[in-house]
Amino acid sequence: MRYIEPHAHMVSRTTDDYRQMALSGCVAVSEPAFWAGFDRLSPDGFDAYFRQLTDFEPKRAAQYGIQHYTWLCLNPKEGEDRALGQKVLACIEKYLDRPNVVGIGEIGVNRVTQNELATFRDHVSFALERKQLILIHTPHLEDKYKGTRMIIDMLKNDPRVNPARVCIDHVEEHTVKLVLDGGFWAGMTLYPNSKCTPARAVDILDRFGSERLWMNSACDWGPSVPLNVPRTALEMRRRGWTAEAIDRVIFQNPVRFLSQCPKFKLPPA
Ligand SMILES: [Zn+2]
Repeated sequence: MRYIEPHAHMVSRTTDDYRQMALSGCVAVSEPAFWAGFDRLSPDGFDAYFRQLTDFEPKRAAQYGIQHYTWLCLNPKEGEDRALGQKVLACIEKYLDRPNVVGIGEIGVNRVTQNELATFRDHVSFALERKQLILIHTPHLEDKYKGTRMIIDMLKNDPRVNPARVCIDHVEEHTVKLVLDGGFWAGMTLYPNSKCTPARAVDILDRFGSERLWMNSACDWGPSVPLNVPRTALEMRRRGWTAEAIDRVIFQNPVRFLSQCPKFKLPPA
């Protein structure tokens, strides 16, 4: 089995996790910028974090034969402070041409406030003006449908947006159709307690097909399982999916999306 982990917050994981992922067939990870567990009040904290994502983390991953890609942004949880967002975007400018940066993300909304939406719009414009791929976080639980709806409406009203270059992550049963019908890519996050479990993710694949869908474990500071993509592949196999169909979801799909960024390249198998 070979797979890509397209959404993993590796800064919060140990090298043991990298080892387990490599042993399970992981060949590349893409790591979106996220929340540090506290709100960073100045752009300096982001500068240090972006250095970690573009310099240190790729070296750590390489020790296990895993290629490391990353996305940069101000996380939606901190998006209330629009002025900080502007300063962070100015800071991102100097990291954009680093070899492992594939786009802007994960941006989006958390509590779906006006300020968060404005910061989100600033990030989308920044990405479009610089021809970057976009990775979008959708809010949790009761805010998910409303937040996803607002994000999609906003993107559809911007004629510059090509939905094939945008992945909307953390979809669930009630939001996946909205995302796919809009021509966007959809990500399913496999969490032990919330979002999608592996069984629910395979149900969604059975219902909605596997075109323009990827799966990730998010693996962050909270309860999460870094091996949830291969574990879900096992569930697919148990339910009779062929090896080729599984490979399409866990390897070929993320490769197709990420390859739209010319920097994303895998070594020959
Ligand atoms: Zn995330």
